[in-house]
Amino acid sequence: MEKIHCTAIVLAAGKGKRMGTKVHKQYLELAGKPVLYYSLKAFEDSAHIDEIILVTGSGEEEYCKKQIVDKYQISKVTEIISGGKERYHSVWNGLSKVTGKGYTFVHDGARPFVNEGMIERALCEVKKSKACVVGMPVKDTVKIADSEGYVANTPDRSRVWTIQTPQVFENDLLKEAYKKLMMCGNIAVTDDAMVVEQMMHLPVKLVEGAYQNIKITTPEDLLIAENFLK
Ligand code: C5P
Repeated sequence: MEKIHCTAIVLAAGKGKRMGTKVHKQYLELAGKPVLYYSLKAFEDSAHIDEIILVTGSGEEEYCKKQIVDKYQISKVTEIISGGKERYHSVWNGLSKVTGKGYTFVHDGARPFVNEGMIERALCEVKKSKACVVGMPVKDTVKIADSEGYVANTPDRSRVWTIQTPQVFENDLLKEAYKKLMMCGNIAVTDDAMVVEQMMHLPVKLVEGAYQNIKITTPEDLLIAENFLK
């Protein structure tokens, strides 16, 4: 079967305020290497990924090139570009470099534990459904709060998932969804699936990720991640 071109947009333009460190969380050291290295390496080593577009903070492009991409020989990186104020701005900038037909894997650079199994499962699914995201069923009961902090309702736990990345789409579909989002102005999206759900009204399939596929957000996440690597 013909190989379909797969691009990974790796997002590393966040400020990571919740980490409370001067160094942005994607550059903090995890077992001697920057957090961002691990996801780049997973896509570099993947049999399915053809190119990587790295989106960094403005002014951090050179640092990323020298200290991560060149240093660890991540040869699939074709572009290092700056992101924007919100995550969706960074995705939009990344998408401007995606050309032709194929699939785009949008991934948080702050999630070091993406692996080949996840990439493969997502690729298999996107070929069928055009849009899919990795995630995991929740372990805890989830409550929706009202504006006063009281429980408004309790969704059926067996149908609640927490969503991770990569989030994978047909290139044309994702570009069209983001184009509509950027034009509509009313923007409160926190992931790419939401953009496709709301702008294109298309179903997005859930694919099993891993409970280990955490996003490094607060200091204890780094300790947990160090333990995963041991
Ligand atoms: O802020 P949050 O943890 O949700 O960010 C998820 C991912 O998106 C991180 O890898 C972060 O670097 C990236 N991001 C970005 N541009 C932004 C905000 C976040 O690339 N403006």
